Amino acid sequence: MSIRDEIELFRLEHLLKELKGKEGRGTELISLYIPAGRPLSEVMSVLKQEYSTAQNIKDRTTRHHVLEALTSIMQRLKLLSRTPPNGLVVFCGYVASDVPGKERMEIHLIEPPEKLRTWLYRCDSVFHVEILEDMIRERDIYGLIVVDRSEAVFGILKGRSMQILKRITSGVPGKHRAGGQSARRFERIIEQLAHEFYKRVGEYANRLFLDIPDLKGIIIGGPGPTKEEFIKGDYLHYELKNKVLGVVDTGYSGEEGVYELVKRSVDIVKGVRLFEEKKVFQEFMHHIARDTGLATYGENEVRRALQMAAVDKLLLSEQLDKHRIRAVCPNCSYEFSLTVESRVESVKCPKCGSQADIESVEHIVEELGRMAKNTGARVFILSDATEEGRILRRTFGGVAAVLRFRI
Ligand SMILES: [Zn+2]
Repeated sequence: MSIRDEIELFRLEHLLKELKGKEGRGTELISLYIPAGRPLSEVMSVLKQEYSTAQNIKDRTTRHHVLEALTSIMQRLKLLSRTPPNGLVVFCGYVASDVPGKERMEIHLIEPPEKLRTWLYRCDSVFHVEILEDMIRERDIYGLIVVDRSEAVFGILKGRSMQILKRITSGVPGKHRAGGQSARRFERIIEQLAHEFYKRVGEYANRLFLDIPDLKGIIIGGPGPTKEEFIKGDYLHYELKNKVLGVVDTGYSGEEGVYELVKRSVDIVKGVRLFEEKKVFQEFMHHIARDTGLATYGENEVRRALQMAAVDKLLLSEQLDKHRIRAVCPNCSYEFSLTVESRVESVKCPKCGSQADIESVEHIVEELGRMAKNTGARVFILSDATEEGRILRRTFGGVAAVLRFRI
């Protein structure tokens, strides 16, 4: 996955987290999921329908709020010539505030990172962000093969969605027939047929999986010992063979077997992600412990290293919640940047103490991520699910880097 995607997903994750915490005064927050390929004209007619239904809402304020939200959604959709390639998600409504009567109208249009297949229109007291959340939670791609002596099925697993790519049958007859001389010959023939079949399975796997750029791994399943025979024999291209993450026993073969494999792959997939996080953190710790000069940590130190294009790998805690502010003083024209823990309305000029004008506010992960992107560094966002992620946050302030050269 490219750094750009990584940062954009982070931004989206953050927005969803924020939206999740918001509430409407009544049942008046609209969540609209428009699947890829759905014509906007159809969406508009649904919204018009909803508009006339909403005119019957008893509570006067709620009615006004819903009608206003629907109006602004329709206005925004009118500006688009067509549904974006991956579909579109809209969240709109008056969000409650601590001060009564201070509700604010918000509208968010989000282009999903993958093709959206779900239609949803909901008017509720909260925003429904779950579908998008699911989409971004797991985004790596895995190849799936379920094989036994009679058939093989290939699929890919991306996030929680699985797609069957191909099914082939073997034509290998069952193992047991009459005894004696001919039985042994017959057995040799089936072994030969099985070998031919595995060869075909390998060829299909190479054709289907080798060209997937970000293939994270392959998981192989099936009932019985066939899958092991298949892996032991050199039927898979070595690049794919190196990517085999797990071999799983399934009760079924065929498509049903693939569905079973998906269910059992959850832990394997989770393990891979955590393993990567551990690995990069261990690399960082290796340099720290041996004082090689090829690692640094702390927001300021890492920012300095980024400015020198010295960062190879940037490690950020998922829990980081700081913002970077750029401001300018209207009194003495001093320009400065600073990091704040939470959103602030105003900052003072460090030179003269006057109220400074805030020029921009950016989440620190975006800011550092952008610097990493501009200098070709890889970004790793570590979750709190691992000990490593927690140490990064607690001991190293959530910001660390492995360097290309000593600075
Ligand atoms: Zn000043």
